[in-house]
This record gives sequence, structure tokens and C-alpha cells, in this order.
Amino acid sequence: MNKYQVKPGQEIILSDWDPGDRSAFVGDKDVAEERLGALNRELEELQELLYAESKHKVLIVLQGMDTSGKDGVIRHVFEGVNPQGVRVASFKVPSPDELAHDYLWRVHKQVPGKGEMVIFNRSHYEDVLVVRVHELVPEPVWKKRFDQINDFERILSREGTTILKFFLHIDLDEQKARLQARLDDPSKQWKFNPGDINERKLWPEYTKAYEDVLNKTSTTWAPWYIVPANRKWYRNLVIATVLVETLKGLQMSYPLPKEDLSGLVIE
Ligand code: AMP
Ligand code: MG
Repeated sequence: MNKYQVKPGQEIILSDWDPGDRSAFVGDKDVAEERLGALNRELEELQELLYAESKHKVLIVLQGMDTSGKDGVIRHVFEGVNPQGVRVASFKVPSPDELAHDYLWRVHKQVPGKGEMVIFNRSHYEDVLVVRVHELVPEPVWKKRFDQINDFERILSREGTTILKFFLHIDLDEQKARLQARLDDPSKQWKFNPGDINERKLWPEYTKAYEDVLNKTSTTWAPWYIVPANRKWYRNLVIATVLVETLKGLQMSYPLPKEDLSGLVIE
């Protein structure tokens, strides 16, 4: 999965990254689904261990254009995990109260505690994406945020948070197909937001903004992965694999009992 990880300071030109890539897995969709099932079970166990050990904190950031599959990842990759130790935080248009504070205020409140896994569905990165593209703050203000975000994430990391950031990379044609599917299918129409059509027109601006994010905020303590996301099954496999490998790397173990249990008999 290393090939999808952005090196710190790496120049990113998204047109060089194939959103339809599937080179890390051989086999067809059926094999992939079986593989994802196995990863789901592994993730379930690792999350149980994370919760039991109550030492590490895990933060997963999901970003991507509209329809890129953030909700799908949450449904399919985290299928089976125990809701007791996993939480989703979705970041929407800020409320007046949120806007009255610095942009990290609402974000910091949602970060994981010990033993917890939190998934950010959008994140503080919106403050250098939508905010930049729509000029919601002046350029000198958003420009400073890349360093601020790196500092913020470094604090979290040094305080025991493992951070993984996934950019779900689709192309314009795939977005068109997915928006059309939302329009055509009555069970998907609720997801259709007419505003998405205007956002789509700003694709080049968003691409530039994402390229800067990936170039400036992929760090050793909080790396970005560019996930080929035109194929949903491949996107899910890449994310599940990175997550399972990272959690295994934490070398977690079940805590020892507080006292010697060997002589105990349950009557
Ligand atoms: P959705 O993820 O489809 O529910 O949409 C959430 C909307 O909130 C998106 O259009 C985001 O661009 C928007 N949003 C999230 N964070 C911010 C922010 N900090 N400032 C402005 N808009 C935001
Ligand atoms: Mg949307």
C-alpha cells in the first residue's frame, strides 16, 4: 500500500494518479469481496483489542469530492466493528457558534480518546478546501492553515493518536455517473444535492486545492493516502488493508487481570 502514501513535501499532480488503478490486487470482484470480508473480521478483532487495551487513539480522516464514497467506506470497511469503541464525526457547514470560534475548535472536541477509533467524514481540511475555493476567508488566512494543521496533528500524534488520512480519488466521468445514479434511483434521490452540480463546475479549483493539501500536509505523523476510488471494491480494500496493517503495527495486547485469577472458582 506504500505506493499510495504521499511522501512529505511530494509534489502531487492528481492527473498522474489513476483513479481506476487496481494493481495491488489480483483477482476479480468476487475474490475482492471475500478478501474484504476477511479484513473486516481482522479489523473487528483489532478494534476490540484497541478498546480493551485502552492505550492508543486512532483517527481516520476521509476526504474526497462529492460522491467519492466517504459514506460507502464507513459502511463497508467498518462493517462489524463494535459501535461501543467506534464513532463517526461528520463535519458540515459550520454553525454560527462554530464560526465564532477558530476552525479547529469543533474538530478538537471530536478527536478520539484512549481505546477509541474515530472516523472523520470530512474534517478540518474543509477549511483549506471549500473555504478556499469559495473564498470564505481571505487567502492569507487559509494559507497559514497548512502549518497550523500540521502542528495540530503533531500534538495529537505525540499524545498517542495514530492518524491516517485518505483522499478518495475519483474522476469527473465517475462523478457524473454517480450523480446521475442518484437522480435516477428513488432510493438514492435523498442524497442528491442540487448544490453538487455547482461544486462540480469548480472541479479544477478543488483539484488544485487538494493537490496543495496532499503536498503540504502529508507528514510522518499523519500521512495521506491517495486511494484509487473509481471502483468501490478496490477503494474499500485499500483502506481496509492500510488500517489493518497500521493497527497490527501498534503491537497491542490484552491487559493483564488486575489480580491473580488462577485460584478463583465460580460457584
Ligand atoms: P455532506 O458531506 O454531503 O453532508 O456535505 C457537507 C457540506 O458541508 C459540504 O458541502 C462541505 O463542503 C460543507 N462544509 C464542511 N465543512 C465546512 C467548512 N468548514 N466551511 C464551509 N463548508 C463546510
Ligand atoms: Mg454531499
